[in-house]
Amino acid sequence: DRIGGLLMYGIPNMKLQKELVQRRVDILAEEGIVFVTNTEVGKDVSVEQLETDFDAVVLCIGATVPRDLPVEGRELNGVHFAMDFLKANTKSLLDSEHKDGQYINAQGKNVVVIGGGDTGTDCIGTSLRHQCSSAIQLEIMPRPPEKREENSNPWPQWPKRLLVDYGQKEAIEIQGQDPRQYLVMTKKIESDEQGNVKAVQTVDITWEQNDKGQMFPQEVAGSEKVLPADIVLIAMGFMGPEGGLVEQFGLEQDNRSNIAAEYDKFATSKEGVFAAGDGRRGQSLIVWAIDEGRRCAREVDSYLMGKSYLP
Ligand SMILES: Cc1cc2nc3c(=O)[nH]c(=O)nc-3n(C[C@H](O)[C@H](O)[C@H](O)COP(=O)(O)OP(=O)(O)OC[C@H]3O[C@@H](n4cnc5c(N)ncnc54)[C@H](O)[C@@H]3O)c2cc1C
Repeated sequence: DRIGGLLMYGIPNMKLQKELVQRRVDILAEEGIVFVTNTEVGKDVSVEQLETDFDAVVLCIGATVPRDLPVEGRELNGVHFAMDFLKANTKSLLDSEHKDGQYINAQGKNVVVIGGGDTGTDCIGTSLRHQCSSAIQLEIMPRPPEKREENSNPWPQWPKRLLVDYGQKEAIEIQGQDPRQYLVMTKKIESDEQGNVKAVQTVDITWEQNDKGQMFPQEVAGSEKVLPADIVLIAMGFMGPEGGLVEQFGLEQDNRSNIAAEYDKFATSKEGVFAAGDGRRGQSLIVWAIDEGRRCAREVDSYLMGKSYLP
């Protein structure tokens, strides 16, 4: 119902003010771009219709299929995907400053976030703003070193080191400690008598190598713990574009289920259909979405006009 994708409904407002997103959308609208909301391509508008009405189609459909957690208790009340929590929070905030109650309220609740990445951090920051009782962030990978390890991780590789983002800083301030627990695997989610989540059972792990050289998590005997939980948020990454549209267009996909299209060409396997942003690259960053959008516009211009003056 609002334009902006994850900039509007994924990234929480304390990280990105929605007035700024809307300001840009308004500028684009004034330039003559027609935005159509509440319309799902493939359902409300058919793929055939789009291809008949337009000479080129650019798919910027994101990559928001969440990775699930296949453990006992996943179906319990109070267990949610991170994006359901974040999206409902922002929508309710924008619609009514939370007065409509149409969001998952973490006030007074023990929140366990499964996944130590940026989406998990946004869940921690949002839960703290709801005034949760406690917030814990579980990560299956090891704690990164304080400083880059020059031998195994030299420049120009991305420096792997411990970062303390806003969600953790706030948790340290409020709860007295970093909410992240590393090398922890979720074994089971426990239920109360009404089918609500009550606790999360975890076990510590180490990463070992099998005889094929593949890494696997080895449980540490006797390290089982039970964490009280009223809300469990699954923030374990994303697995490609939503909803069958790629199949309806009959497009080739890469080995991560994203739309196959070469960077800087953006042409998909189908004539006149282009792809840019997370839907092509996988869940990424705003700067890449902007970069791909601009470059893709130039490619589409060339496709339609035979040449392009766009940068
Ligand atoms: C929780 C979270 C926090 C993030 N924080 C940051 C951050 O701090 N900094 C940063 O740089 N990046 C961040 N990102 C990543 C960033 O938001 C994305 O990389 C960026 O939004 C990608 O833009 P996009 O246009 O490709 O896709 P999206 O933003 O996902 O937009 C896709 C749009 O397509 C629409 N759509 C999908 N299917 C259809 C259909 N069939 N019909 C019609 N419309 C459809 C969707 O509704 C959506 O509006 C974050 C991501 C998440 C999930």
